[in-house]
Formats: sequence, C-alpha cells, structure tokens
Amino acid sequence: MERLVCVICWSEMPSERRTCTCCGAVVDVASPAYEKSLLKALDAASPEHKAQICRALATRGSARAFPHLVDMLDNPVVLVRVEALRALGELGNASIIPVIEEHAASTESLSVRAAASEALQALAAFRVDHTQAR
Ligand SMILES: [Zn+2]
Repeated sequence: MERLVCVICWSEMPSERRTCTCCGAVVDVASPAYEKSLLKALDAASPEHKAQICRALATRGSARAFPHLVDMLDNPVVLVRVEALRALGELGNASIIPVIEEHAASTESLSVRAAASEALQALAAFRVDHTQAR
C-alpha cells in the first residue's frame, strides 16, 4: 500500500496526489526537497508522525532514507520500529538483514517480531530478484 504524508499538516494522502487534500500544500513526491523535509522532520516528530514518515520514505524508495530508518530501529515506541522495519524491507538493501535478525531475536514485542520477519522475507525476495537479473 502506497501512502504519502503531507509534511505541513501530517495527514496521509494517496500517492497519486500532488496536492494535500487536507491543507492544500503542494507535495511533489518526486522532488528531493520533499524527501529532505521528511528527513529533517523525522528526529523531532512525534511517534505517530515518525511512523508516517517511515511509510512515506518507503513509498519513495530512496536509498538516502536508509541510515535514518536504521536509526529508527532504536526508537522506544513499537509503532515506529514496526514501520521502520517495513520500510527497510521495502527499500531492499540486504546489508541490513543481520541487524534485523538481531532485532527480531532481542525484542519482546510480537508486532516488532512480525514486522521483522516480514522485512526479512521482503529482503530475501529482493536478493533473489537481484540474482536473477544478472
Ligand atoms: Zn497537508
């Protein structure tokens, strides 16, 4: 499911929209400025907004989001870790696999463990695709 988030009013919007349905702000998904504002907002954002930003970054699929999403794995809020794991699965950078495995093994949270195994499955699929493409 593709979701974007308006960095002005934090409402979620369908990815095909270029204008926020809530506040009317122009959200140009393809622009690096949009991604930059998402990444800039990430640290100070509330847990709910952090989760939304993780989803939006996953939708964009930009490699620049990768280290920021890795940082989010240390967030105390389960929702944030779950969305960061999903996003990392979607980005398809297989170098994160050992970190996710360790994360899954050390967490008490069932939803984090479930998101971790989803992400690992997604990453395994990426790895197969990559091999076949060569
Ligand atoms: Zn808005």
